[in-house]
Amino acid sequence: MNQIPISAVRIGEEEERLVLEVLRSGRLAQGPMVERLEREFAPLAGAAHAVAVANGTVALEAALGALGVGPGDEVLTSPFTFIATSNAVLRTGASVRFADIRLDDFCLDPAQLEARLTPRTRVLLPVHLYGQVADMDPLLELARRRGLLVLEDAAQAHLATYRGRPAGSFGDAATFSLYATKNLQSGEGGIVTTGRDEVADRLRLLRNQGMRARYEYEMVGDNHRLTDVQAAIAVPQLARLRELTERRRRNASFLSEGLAEVPGLVTPQAMPGREHVWHQYTVRVTEEAKLDRDAALSGLAERGVGAGVYYPRPLYDYAAYRELERVDHDPMPNAERACREVLSLPVHPYLSEDDLERIVAAVRDLLC
Ligand SMILES: *Cc1c(COP(=O)(O)O)cnc(C)c1O
Repeated sequence: MNQIPISAVRIGEEEERLVLEVLRSGRLAQGPMVERLEREFAPLAGAAHAVAVANGTVALEAALGALGVGPGDEVLTSPFTFIATSNAVLRTGASVRFADIRLDDFCLDPAQLEARLTPRTRVLLPVHLYGQVADMDPLLELARRRGLLVLEDAAQAHLATYRGRPAGSFGDAATFSLYATKNLQSGEGGIVTTGRDEVADRLRLLRNQGMRARYEYEMVGDNHRLTDVQAAIAVPQLARLRELTERRRRNASFLSEGLAEVPGLVTPQAMPGREHVWHQYTVRVTEEAKLDRDAALSGLAERGVGAGVYYPRPLYDYAAYRELERVDHDPMPNAERACREVLSLPVHPYLSEDDLERIVAAVRDLLC
């Protein structure tokens, strides 16, 4: 029985052609292909500027740096995300503070934010988890009222929308990842989007050793550059991204129909007014289910379904953070519950009808 993987990469002829073009051009580092990727990506994120960098983690760190965040500042974010979100904050010297999530969209609960602010809070950092934009209206309203910056972690949410506006267009800046398992892939890669000219300018300097023109260094910079080889993998996929996202959406509908009324299983919702791009299709295996989440996970593996747990612990509970003073350790009950219950099923665009039927059958077999 063949294994159904949780994610899949397909490199087409157009990617091969463009990569070869770059290889033959002799310009392997950042050059015209990176510029093309930025030019074509920015409008999809509803942003005036896109600045490509080496990966999504560096994108977050550079965006925070360009927004002037550093030691003594606090960034308020979700404890239920990939550790890159908080690692990037810690790399700037700032502290990480958490607010709890909602269980219906797995994103920051705007109603919990205000009580978590301190005089040092500078930035709200919502994570558009699994491909769904966080509830931005109340979050932006709070940011305006309290004079806070907003940075979106949109690593999983290329093309997702909220009230008709795309991920990447809400905050002072937003970051995307092009890692090999994300909805848009270049192996490794990242993009920062922003509508603020001076933030884009600072990002471009920061990315390239702080250099404005040859040997004119305006600030202490770094090397965060993406290469043209990587950009040449992403550019053709960008042209197909709407179609690939549509396939994810159809797969998600198929799964939700097939998994309706499984006792104890909660299927994911696309919230009203938001277009979900299904980076992950994540169910909750609750206490009422026949098996617990980990037993369901092993049962699926035995049936050839590559399910996964994103994420098994809230950030404050990882060994690396447990003793760290710059990380807040207040318990967040919804995040902890999500960590116990979530299970992501394959939803990627290359699933066949047969794969989808097998996934549904395997889950029903285990839990009905
Ligand atoms: C993948 C991811 C990142 C980091 O991106 P990399 O390209 O892997 O560095 C950051 N935040 C979230 C939510 C992610 O899923």
